[in-house]
Amino acid sequence: LANNMDHIENVQIYKELEPFVTTIKQQHEDILKSAMMRQEFTANVTHELKTPLTSISGYAELIENGMAQGDDVERFATEIHRNAKRLLSLINDTLRLSELDSNDGDLLMEDVNLYDVASNCVNMLTLHAEENDVKFHLKGSNTHVKGSHSMIEELVYNLCDNAIRYNREGGNIWVVVDPEDHSILVSDDGIGISEENQSRIFERFYRVDKSRSRKTGSTGLGLAIVKHIAEQHGAKIELTSAENVGTTIKVIFPDPDK
Ligand code: ADP
Repeated sequence: LANNMDHIENVQIYKELEPFVTTIKQQHEDILKSAMMRQEFTANVTHELKTPLTSISGYAELIENGMAQGDDVERFATEIHRNAKRLLSLINDTLRLSELDSNDGDLLMEDVNLYDVASNCVNMLTLHAEENDVKFHLKGSNTHVKGSHSMIEELVYNLCDNAIRYNREGGNIWVVVDPEDHSILVSDDGIGISEENQSRIFERFYRVDKSRSRKTGSTGLGLAIVKHIAEQHGAKIELTSAENVGTTIKVIFPDPDK
């Protein structure tokens, strides 16, 4: 058995040992899977960090060699600044994810009012929405769930922030809190997500439109953080979306009284 860990099914075992062997096999598979995921994540992070750094280095070199004339200096400095900001967001989001990963299990269980969280996020983002010519509509009533206030706020903030960034001029965002099923949903009538992309957007670093996201400074980590926080709270995520119609993401929390 010890020599054939990868092909346990070929090993003859006593029936009494089967549950034990199944557990070992599962653990063995989990270890392999998590090692592979870590390796993939490291490769992705390295690649993502390299892109803005290459730009920064390139523009700085042009200035250093006296290749920047007149307006160029300002243009190159703008590019350096933009890429440096992007690098910072990538590092912050990556650190946040690894913090969430290492905190698995010991979640603070406070009483959290989803409606307060929603109204707070809407207040924080109203100015940003106005700048993008997008309107917020907050609906619902007090809804209590158990969890970490700051993490749930981060989840709702990320959903609202996406609803602004992937919207259109004159677009709307509805934030609805429902005490019936302890849920919060963020719905927009923005650009929407095609069916083939819908299953992938919660993956780390996945972005539908890479060139657009480079301009908006997105990292592809926002929804991975949302998914992580929802999992830690035992909450379910439902996504419905159609291209050029809009996107709705609903997060349903467990009943706090059960
Ligand atoms: P980021 O926004 O930083 O790229 P996210 O993980 O938050 O990363 O989102 C992943 C991708 O999913 C985005 O790049 C975007 O293409 C798509 N997306 C997320 N939210 C929406 C939305 N409300 N409407 C349309 N597309 C969205």
